Amino acid sequence: MTALNETHDPALDCWVESAHSPGTDFPLQNLPFGVFRRAGSGEAFRGGVAIGAEIVDLAAAQAAGVFDGQAARAAQAATGPQLNALMAMGPAASSALRLALSRGLRRESPLEGRLRGCVVPQARAEYAVPAEIGDYTDFYTSIHHAANVGRLFRPDHPLMPNYKWVPIGYHGRVSSIGVSGQEFARPRGQVLPKGATAPVFAPSARIDYELELGVYIGTGNALGAPIAIDDAPSHVFGLCLLNDWSARDVQAWEYQPLGPFLAKNFATTISPWIVTLEALAPYRVPLSRPEGEPKPLAYLESPADIAEGAFDIRLEVLLETARMRAAHEPAVRLAATSYRHAWWTLAQMVTHHTVNGCNLRPGDLLGTGTLSGPEPGEAGALLELTVGGTQPVTLADGESRTFLEDGDTVIMRGACERPGAVRIGFGEVRGTLLPAT
Ligand code: CA
Repeated sequence: MTALNETHDPALDCWVESAHSPGTDFPLQNLPFGVFRRAGSGEAFRGGVAIGAEIVDLAAAQAAGVFDGQAARAAQAATGPQLNALMAMGPAASSALRLALSRGLRRESPLEGRLRGCVVPQARAEYAVPAEIGDYTDFYTSIHHAANVGRLFRPDHPLMPNYKWVPIGYHGRVSSIGVSGQEFARPRGQVLPKGATAPVFAPSARIDYELELGVYIGTGNALGAPIAIDDAPSHVFGLCLLNDWSARDVQAWEYQPLGPFLAKNFATTISPWIVTLEALAPYRVPLSRPEGEPKPLAYLESPADIAEGAFDIRLEVLLETARMRAAHEPAVRLAATSYRHAWWTLAQMVTHHTVNGCNLRPGDLLGTGTLSGPEPGEAGALLELTVGGTQPVTLADGESRTFLEDGDTVIMRGACERPGAVRIGFGEVRGTLLPAT
């Protein structure tokens, strides 16, 4: 079972005042990792840890001699522009660094003086994709999303017969993954007009977002050596928010028989901060499945994963249209749900991915697939919210949407909250659709 430790103590007091601001995503109990530099500075990107409205510059802290022993070795591995070396060291190393930072950031820490010189305001920072992602695999772990989408195409049997047995996924594209703030032109592609027998080449008219979590692999596995389900969590470094942009009209024409291709690989946007599994420990919840559902094959099941393999991470999607931006109006919320509704756990994703001997490497990224909950307002994509584009969503300012329009910015946020623990958040991931070029 995942132990809580002194870094989760709700009573911790931090000398960074903004770490105590109501609603902050980054209290002392969170300490997520990212890669940053001062905006517009031309400085090298390097590892950092978010605290309140600030960032602890790990390269500066390491140079200032703040850390000892294993924490120092972990900080050293995070001084460059990618966190793969830190990820490869495994959970004991990132945990040692987390503990050292937690102690150094507490009020009256003897390290306060040295650490104060290593802090950069988030308002003055820009971020990079925090790892060299070797491979990216996107899963399909939300049964509610799978059923909602399946119902549009196959009303009589929305779920494919394999869904409850095998975690479905496909191999995605790394080159177009960008960090929050990503902008991309509306893609063109082959689409089949309604009633037509031949496709046309045109800008996609059905651009959608997908609300997902991204999972960074920490230590990998050797080719031919699968990861057992109870070892899977120790191979996960942490989680981020992920928007898997999708061109639904391109997808509908191309997806059979090999799955998504150009409908998905033009842009994927991730949040800059990686929240570690250790930080998420207070928010583990039991895997809940209705009575009478098939028991997974033995390699995909363990008592520990059933007891605490799911996470209650509250997620929301907001839309800021070009009109809202011009009128200085706030973004409007389209949907909210929780990761706890997923059918397959994070450990099941990792174990299934490697069961045939496939090797995962530090910095590899897994997507959970669109996370939709059981209720209509919990749909993680416009495809579901608008029932395949047939029922437009009316926004608070009177605009409506079936799919995204040029100039739309999609914002996703995530946070964990429960009595007896301090709220922690993921920050946000935002991305903007530009007109076709
Ligand atoms: Ca997806």
